Amino acid sequence: KFKAKIMDEKAINRSITRLSHEIIEKNKGIEDVVLIGIHTRGVPLAKRLASKIKQIENADVAVASLDITLYRDDLSKIDDNPIINKNQIDININDKNVILIDDVIFTGRTVRAAMDALIDIGRPKTIQLAVLVDRGHRELPIRPDYIGKNVPTSKKEIISVRLDEVDKENKVEIFEK
Ligand code: 5GP
Ligand code: MG
Repeated sequence: KFKAKIMDEKAINRSITRLSHEIIEKNKGIEDVVLIGIHTRGVPLAKRLASKIKQIENADVAVASLDITLYRDDLSKIDDNPIINKNQIDININDKNVILIDDVIFTGRTVRAAMDALIDIGRPKTIQLAVLVDRGHRELPIRPDYIGKNVPTSKKEIISVRLDEVDKENKVEIFEK
């Protein structure tokens, strides 16, 4: 059941612009920055950030993606089982400032699995996290470095993120399950 629209296309674009500036500022440029989009909608977000950063800094940022599925056991959340479907990180992450990008952060388990995958393949200088929406309910000590919008939710609510590259429209809405 639809509850509210929280971002329209302009709001999403403004968030991408602000997050790009924050990433550049925090990393003192983008020389050693690598953006890694997490499965479906983190990937177009990473590409949008890269193209905005190029506009601002006039330099290319490396972009890669990581496809992670969490198989959730209904009986126990502790049994979440991360499956790395595809490792598409064909770039060097050693000594890089690796920024994970996702559309929504919830419990933090996907990001934890992504960090495990990164640490398996290299030794990044830092791992940072950017999300379009932080909906709360963390179950792990993980906090995004860059947040498009904080959206406090109940566990019955779900955030719908629609991006043109995947969904042919740009908006973020809250639904009740
Ligand atoms: P977590 O692993 O932090 O519990 O969940 C985050 C992952 O699940 C992200 O990859 C995100 O795409 C997806 N996810 C979790 N909750 C939501 C939600 O309310 N809306 C959307 N669009 N994705 C969610
Ligand atoms: Mg996802």
